[in-house]
This record gives sequence, structure tokens and C-alpha cells, in this order.
Amino acid sequence: MQPLFASEPSIEDQLYRILNSTRPEYAWKLRRYFEEHWEPSLSFQNEGLDGFREKTHFMVRKLLQADLLSLAELNQKPSEYMKFCEHSCWIDGSVAATLFGHFLIFGGSLVFLGTERHRSLVDVADDFRLPGCFCMTEVGHGSNLAGLGTTATYDAERGEFIINTPSWRDAKWAIALLAWNARVVTVMAQLYMPDGECKGIHSFLVPVRDEEGRPLPGVKISDVDWLIGLNGVGIGGAMFEQVRIPRENLLNRFADVTAEGKYVTSFDSPGDLFRAQISPLMIERLVPFAVAGMKIALAVAARYGKERRQFGPRGGPERPIIEYSSHKRRLMPGVAETYAIAFMLERLHLEADVTMPEPLPTPLQPLCASFKAYSYETATRVIQNARECCGVHSFRHINKIARAQLDMHGFAHAAGDNVVLFQYAGRILLEDFAGGKGPFKEAAEPDASACSVTCVKHQELFAARFSQLLDYTRGEFMKHMGEGMNRGDAWNEILTFAIELGRAYAIRETHKQFLRVIGACAPGPAKDILTELCELYGWSTLSANLGWYRDVSDGSLELSALFVERTVLEYSQRLAPKLDLLVDSFGIPEVLLPAADLMADLPGKFS
Ligand SMILES: Cc1cc2nc3c(=O)[nH]c(=O)nc-3n(C[C@H](O)[C@H](O)[C@H](O)COP(=O)(O)OP(=O)(O)OC[C@H]3O[C@@H](n4cnc5c(N)ncnc54)[C@H](O)[C@@H]3O)c2cc1C
Repeated sequence: MQPLFASEPSIEDQLYRILNSTRPEYAWKLRRYFEEHWEPSLSFQNEGLDGFREKTHFMVRKLLQADLLSLAELNQKPSEYMKFCEHSCWIDGSVAATLFGHFLIFGGSLVFLGTERHRSLVDVADDFRLPGCFCMTEVGHGSNLAGLGTTATYDAERGEFIINTPSWRDAKWAIALLAWNARVVTVMAQLYMPDGECKGIHSFLVPVRDEEGRPLPGVKISDVDWLIGLNGVGIGGAMFEQVRIPRENLLNRFADVTAEGKYVTSFDSPGDLFRAQISPLMIERLVPFAVAGMKIALAVAARYGKERRQFGPRGGPERPIIEYSSHKRRLMPGVAETYAIAFMLERLHLEADVTMPEPLPTPLQPLCASFKAYSYETATRVIQNARECCGVHSFRHINKIARAQLDMHGFAHAAGDNVVLFQYAGRILLEDFAGGKGPFKEAAEPDASACSVTCVKHQELFAARFSQLLDYTRGEFMKHMGEGMNRGDAWNEILTFAIELGRAYAIRETHKQFLRVIGACAPGPAKDILTELCELYGWSTLSANLGWYRDVSDGSLELSALFVERTVLEYSQRLAPKLDLLVDSFGIPEVLLPAADLMADLPGKFS
């Protein structure tokens, strides 16, 4: 590896730096760690369920004990966790999701919702000595947190909370690590005071297993068993039967029950308190599962495309499949989308670093929500496509790409259901009469003079589609209200368009961020490549929804279906010779990649 800060960095290193612009040195440190310390044997073969979980948790422990990450600093440098998570995804989605469940959301609940009195737990959670998990979801309630059924009733005489699950429908469910080794969990529950008043959702620390891993009295733990993906995590459920915990186990940063049994909070409205209590969950929307999956899937497909030969001229050698124009068309737009999504994520990580430990500012919330959904739905398509480009050899779990595809299905719901997030973003954008302008306080509009004319025209189309949807959807909502419909029913009528509005917003902002990156790039080959990639991203995004863009076009860009498809193909062909460079710049350590031909273990099978 060439040093990252070589006086004349190669194009690959320049792209790597831009792809990791929030913390390039830290990303580099992780890359070196894997190159130097990660054994090839630390990979998954064909383990059964228990073996898979055992190995996943072994790897998580090894990673957290490598002194690369600090839980106490999560609320100051969340972007370090994000880079760490990206590298762990390249080991396997189960490793990343276990880290997510333990470190980000359980550990995050301690540092974002807890206070000094929970500090000792931060130290033992930091290196996985105390595995924990975060129990929000229930059998009967997922996205609608306000409807959770688990209760925490305060017993003033004993200074304790009693955690209870009224029925199996209120059992905690789909909780990462709970089926395997979590010993303490953060439980989200409705807080009831002794007079019967409900104070809404609060978070409580509840021990669930003893040191030997046996469930504690009153705690019934279950396993959700085989899932589509992420089977190494140990996803489980739990019921609590009148489990008593000390008063101090309430995570009390925003609200508390005093030793005298008095409920105190600095928030005036229950709505604001609820938003504060769930604010740490915002950060989970910035987790890079999607982009990490896209990167490894494309890297695998690019390498395989060069190795794999099929058909060819009569009597001559077979041709590498990457030489087929259709193959380039299948892969290159996904590469452009990966760069676009990576750039936006870097920007959001920077924002999180600057803002934390305070909650992300309100204008960023619709962007975080819609971008999470947009990036995951894009990743699901791109990874599927890349896997199909590798044929039957991609079908085997040990070659990683199938697993990346399967794991992505879980991530469509974890960290917020994609569709619910789009509509959440749509609702805020509709209510905000500034119309989603300026989510980043410190980021100027892109400098049009530093971008190509094509890029500028694409941005105009993305912006026009967003504006049209905003005006139309708002108009429809007002019309329904004017006709006497109540808010809930009027909202239900426009839901499909509100979701599309969220998607259009994410696309407009993602493309805009790409333009900012190009604008900040010094003239040279790296900038030229990024400009072409951005143009391809623009064209292929238009091609997926051409009708919408024709509706808002001013006619200055040809948008016939044939022309757009030809253009996407031309860009794909032109950029294909740079495919190696583009995927090598992702910086995936070689030890985490399968053999280029996806056949490393096959000779042994036939010897
Ligand atoms: C791999 C994985 C790991 C997870 N880990 C954890 C964990 O560690 N801790 C934890 O607490 N939870 C965890 N979860 C659960 C996750 O948080 C939930 O999946 C998520 O909150 C969504 O809830 P739900 O799946 O019950 O979907 P629901 O909210 O029931 O939604 C079901 C469907 O209805 C749609 N829908 C819902 N509401 C509306 C609406 N208002 N309008 C229109 N459509 C709607 C949704 O889009 C979705 O398609 C995990 C999930 C997965 C898949």
C-alpha cells in the first residue's frame, strides 16, 4: 500500500480520501489493522446456526478489544464508529449488525440517554465484557413506538421500577443479541407513577442473564430462529414478569424520578420529551450498512468479471464477461450510485461529529430519514444486480456477495422501516414551508461553474421534480381538508405522494452533494473521473423514473427513452476501463475479499 499522505497521491488514493473525507486517517488505520492483523481464518465457512453465532461474537469481541474504538467517545466522534462499522460489514453483515446492536444502540443508549451514574457500564460495554442490547420493538409494535405495551411502574416505597410485559403481543421482539449472550438490556417502556399517571416512553436498564448466561428470574428469553439473513447476530425476544430494578436504572438524561419519588423533567411538552428520548435513534439512520454492502458487492463482481470467461469468437479464446457491453451497463451505474451515496453519507457523518452530543438539528432530520431509506433501497437493487453478474458462484455464502444481498433485506427495516422513513420525511417537508431548503447550515449551494453543464441540468430536473411533488401533494392535502376530511384521512389520501416526495428529496440532495464534492476537487484526473461518474449517476437516476422528469423538463435536455438509455450505456462503456480503479479506491482490505474467481476452496473439494 502506498502511504495515504504520499506527496503525490495516486488517483486511487485521492478517491479513497474523498470517499473517507470525514476521517481519512482513521479509515486508513482500520485498513492497516485488517491488512496486518486479520487472519484469513477469521472468515465464515459453512457453520450451523450456533457455530455462526459463536464465531460472529468471537469476532466482535476481538474487534472491540483491538483498541480501535471508544464507547465513551461515541457522542463526540460518531463517525469513527461509522467507519468501524463499514469495515465490519466487509467481514460479514452479522458482525456489523451485532456491533450495531451492542455498541451503537445499547452503548448509545448509555452515552446518549444515561448520566454519570451509568458511567461504569460504559467501561464494561466498551470492549464487550458486558454484552448488551436495546429493546424497543415488540411483537405488536414496530414503527409506532408510542404504542409500546411494556410497562415500568414506580414503587415509591422500595425505590424500584417494576418492568412488566402485559401479554405476549407486548414481548420485546427482533432484538439483536438477545437470543445469544446479552446480559443487560435497555428496555423502552411506558413509565407509570404510583398514582397511575403514565409519563410515556422512557428507557431502563434491565439485567437479563447471569454470568453463566442463564436467564434471570422473571425474564423469559426466546429465539426468533432462522432469518432471511443476519443469522450470526442471535436475534431474540423477551418477556418480563414483574421484574424489579433499582430507581437508578432509569436512563435519566432527559427525565428522572427522584429519591423522594417525584417525576422531574426540563421539557414542557410530552411531545418534546418523547422526541428527546428517541433522539439517539436518529444516529442509527447514518449507519453505513448500505454503502458497505454496495462496495463489497461491486468489488467482488468487478474482480470476477475480469476472471470469468464465457463464449467468444469461433475457435478463439473465451472473452472475460466484463468485456460484454451489457455487463458494463449492469455494473457501472451501480458504481456511480455507490459514489453518490458514499459522499452524502460522509457529509452526514461530518454533521453528526459537529453536532453530537446534541440531537441532530431539525432541518437534517428529513434528510437523514429519507436518505436512509433511499440508500438502502438502492443498495438492495445494486447488490442483487452485482450478485447476478457473478452467476452461480455468487450463490455460495462463503463468497460474501449472497450474504450481503440477504442481509440487506433486514436492514430495510432495522434502523427504521424504509417506507415509514420516507413518509416521515415527506410529512416534515410538507409542514415546512421553507420546502426542505438548506439542510446543512454550513454547506453552500454547489458552485455551478465548477460542474459540467450536464450535471447542472440534472440537478435542475431533480429539483423540479421535488418542487412539483411538494406543490401537488400539499395542494391535495389542503383540498381534502377543505372538503371537510380530518387530518388523518387527508394524510392517508396523499401518502403515496408523500413517500415519493421523501424519495425525490433524498435524490435531489444526494446529487447536490456529489456536485459539492466535484466543486471542491482540484482540477485533474480524479475530478474528471468524478464528473463522469456524476453524469452517469444523473442519467441512470433519470432513466429509472423518466416519465416524472419529462413532466417537469424545460426541454433543454433530450429525455427520449431511447436517447437516455443510449447515454447510460455510453457512459458505462466509457467508464468501464476504470472499474478496477473505482472499486480499488473503496479500500476494502484484501483479506476481507473472497478470491477473485470465487473458487478458492474448489480444488480441495475435488482432490
Ligand atoms: C435485522 C433486524 C435487527 C433488528 N434489531 C433490533 C434491535 O436490536 N432492537 C429493536 O428494538 N428492534 C430491532 N429490530 C426491529 C426494527 O426496529 C423494526 O423492524 C422496525 O422498527 C419496524 O417495525 P416492524 O418491522 O414491526 O414493521 P411495522 O412498523 O409493523 O411495519 C410493517 C409494514 O407496514 C408499513 N407501515 C407501517 N406503518 C405504516 C404507516 N403509518 N403508513 C404506511 N405504511 C406503514 C411498513 O412500511 C412495513 O412495510 C430489528 C429488525 C431487523 C430486521
